[in-house]
Amino acid sequence: MNVIRTITFKLQLPGGGPPALLDTMRAYTTAFSTSAQWGFENHTWNKVENHKATYKAVREAVPDLPSSLVQGARDCACEALKAVKCKTVPERKPLAAMRYNQRVITVNLIHGIATIASVKGRIKAAFPISEYHRQYLSWTVTSSTLSCDRKKRVFYLHISMEHPDVKPVKEIRVLGIDRGIVNVAVCSNNTFFNSKHVKNTRAKYAHLRKELQSKGTRAAKRKLRKIARRERRFVTDANHCISKQIVSSDYTVFALEDLSKIRVQKRRSRSFNRKLNSWTFYELEQFLRYKAEALGKQVLLVDARYTSQKCSACGHTYKGNREGSSFRCRKCGFQLHADLNAARNIAQAGTSCLSRLPVNQPHVACL
Ligand SMILES: [Zn+2]
Repeated sequence: MNVIRTITFKLQLPGGGPPALLDTMRAYTTAFSTSAQWGFENHTWNKVENHKATYKAVREAVPDLPSSLVQGARDCACEALKAVKCKTVPERKPLAAMRYNQRVITVNLIHGIATIASVKGRIKAAFPISEYHRQYLSWTVTSSTLSCDRKKRVFYLHISMEHPDVKPVKEIRVLGIDRGIVNVAVCSNNTFFNSKHVKNTRAKYAHLRKELQSKGTRAAKRKLRKIARRERRFVTDANHCISKQIVSSDYTVFALEDLSKIRVQKRRSRSFNRKLNSWTFYELEQFLRYKAEALGKQVLLVDARYTSQKCSACGHTYKGNREGSSFRCRKCGFQLHADLNAARNIAQAGTSCLSRLPVNQPHVACL
């Protein structure tokens, strides 16, 4: 199984670096436009024909653009022409992100140095490798893309990497995970992630938000946006920690409720909770997938209906079985924390779903 990741690094450039890269992007766009125009007029996305017809003109128009980049721009133009079947002329913003193939960029992950071809020769850029990113040192770089944020005057390098042989885990051990508001995640192996820290911080933000909203001034609105971003980062961080802990357990299949159904279920909650939860739930799912994949494990989506009403011991499904955070089966008397009962139901649904499917089919949905 091939695992592919794209990681973004902020580049540290020498003095003349930024203007040279901006000029390179502009020249690249000129090359792109020439190829796109010719392809449109002649109704073809054939790269060889395009090359024969446009190469000379492009070289004359942007003599400093390295020839590999001229070819890269032509290939991009041809792909864009193919995508629109030559019905329109593909356009490119002058400073749009630019793909670099391995001939025009050298990426040294170990030292955090990239040598990037430009209209002013090769530019040496540095990008600090964090402790976290060291896990990627053994991966193979497949392609790189350069982008810039003009407002912030920052350049980013997006490096795509491939890990060729992540072995899918053959053994199947299903863990059910129930996501919620009070408990961020509850697992069928009796693990609760209800970090008080998360709750307190969320409450703090909710309070701040209320105060600012009642003010309604422009400054207050600006502050609100800032708080929203900060809160988002905070929850993202929590989701990272939780998903990492879950994925590194002995379990190999992680069963979750199908998200679209959860949204309907939680309709009664306050509008903000709804907004917050829809993306936090989804984010946790994304992180779990991403981290599980790298370990050859998998995430499974199961039908969300009745997971909170069904008894995980006898299967009796009744709305009145659940009262707040406690679950008591009206039929067999089984008692458990409601979220844990749900997590066990999710695990059971995941197991029965897997028995119906070919082994280790990744990312399947059981609905
Ligand atoms: Zn029961």
